[in-house]
Order: sequence, then C-alpha cells, then structure tokens
Amino acid sequence: MSNLDVHQFICRDDNYGVLVHDSRTGTTISIDAPDANAIADNLKKRGWQLTHILTTHHHEDHIAGNLALKEMFGCRIIGPEAEKAKIPGIMQTVKGGDVLQLAHRPVKVFDCPGHTLGHVAYHFSDDYLLFAADTLFSLGCGRVFEGTMEQMHTSVNQFRTLQPMTSVYCGHEYTEANAKFALTIEPGNRDLQRRAIEVKSLREQGKMTCPTTIGEELKTNPYLRCASPEIRKVLGMENATDAQVFAEIRERKNRF
Ligand code: ZN
Ligand code: FE
Repeated sequence: MSNLDVHQFICRDDNYGVLVHDSRTGTTISIDAPDANAIADNLKKRGWQLTHILTTHHHEDHIAGNLALKEMFGCRIIGPEAEKAKIPGIMQTVKGGDVLQLAHRPVKVFDCPGHTLGHVAYHFSDDYLLFAADTLFSLGCGRVFEGTMEQMHTSVNQFRTLQPMTSVYCGHEYTEANAKFALTIEPGNRDLQRRAIEVKSLREQGKMTCPTTIGEELKTNPYLRCASPEIRKVLGMENATDAQVFAEIRERKNRF
C-alpha cells in the first residue's frame, strides 16, 4: 500500500521508536524521540539519515532525544504549537487541520487534547498510516492528564473516520495489560478474545503487538466501543451517553 519503509522498535522500557523512510527522497522521520542513542543505532543499521522529528506531545519520554538528534543530524523538529515552549529544539509548529508535505505526500495533523492539552497525531493519508502516540493505544487509550474526559473521548473517536485498513502506530507497548482490562469490560467480545490470545503469544515471543489497524481497534478497543450493549450492561450504564461510558471505562482502568 505504502512505499514508505516504517521501522519500529522498543526503547526505554515500553516506548515505541518509529522511523519512517522514503527511499526516493531520502526523507527519514522519527515519530517522537524517546531515546537518542536507540534511534541513532537504528538509523545506522538501516543506513538512514534523520531529516525530521515529528513530535506528538511534550512528555519527557517523547522529547528526550530531540536535542542530541538535532545535534547529530541537523534534523528539523516539528511539533504542536500549543506545547512549543516545552519541546526542545522545535523549529516549526503545527495544529489540527494543518497538512504538512513530507517526502512528496500529505501529512495531516489532528488535535488530540486529553493526555496533554496540545497532543497531536500525524496521519500520512496517502499511505494509510496514523501515528497516534499516547492518544490511542491498541486496546486502550492514554491516561487523561491535562484535558477532560470529554476531550479525550472526542480525540479518540475522531479516528473512526479513517479507513479501516489504516495502520495505527502507538506510543507504548501496553497491549497485554490493556487486553486484560478490556476483557473485564466486554468479556463476550469474540474479536477481543481472539486479539488477547494473539497479543499474549506475541509477547511470549518477545514480539511487538503494534501496529494495529483502525478496523481491528473498532472491533476490540473498549474506548471505541462505548455504544456496545455488552459494555453498557457490564457497567450498568444502559442509558448513559457514549462520553459518560468512555469516562467510566477510563476511570476503571486507572484503578485496575
Ligand atoms: Zn505521554
Ligand atoms: Fe508516553
């Protein structure tokens, strides 16, 4: 589908490092910069030169490598306008609705307030790639630190409009714990049962569970399934709004 090379690896403890490379132009983009050395090693292995960092939000585990990588590669750091004061080395800012042109293709920016107020996601629409960082995880979503539950609900649910085949890259490898929790909320969901088994087996083999897809998450991720009759029954919230169900799921996860 896409003629971009996407290389993903685990760094720090459970952060994903992601490199996106276009061989025609030599453009190489790091989605966030959790760890400069790990990213530099992976670039070296591939023979790629880093040209850009697309920052999703200001948390330390997403910006820690910015300055060292900028020093090493002279790469251009792009990130959310609303968090520019907290993003080291930032040279260009974006906000929801903006469309960047990178490697001759559009990169659409989504505002995703909730986890942080300025969190953005990047959508390579021609390539069906979404980089959602700490907004949407496989079978989960990020903790709501700065925004409201309402905002996070809207941020997560805006991804429903993307094509089901869209690959979703996330900020963290949290899928196994998310699966355990999701099964307490929607135990009868066959797709979720199947995914939980798959995830357990992948983790036992030391493999990564992402990328996932929008289609897969719509079938299995409780935060995208607030209308599910089973979820509403389990929560005793048959008549609540989707946003209320979302908030209850997120609060239960915090205590899980
Ligand atoms: Zn974060
Ligand atoms: Fe994070």
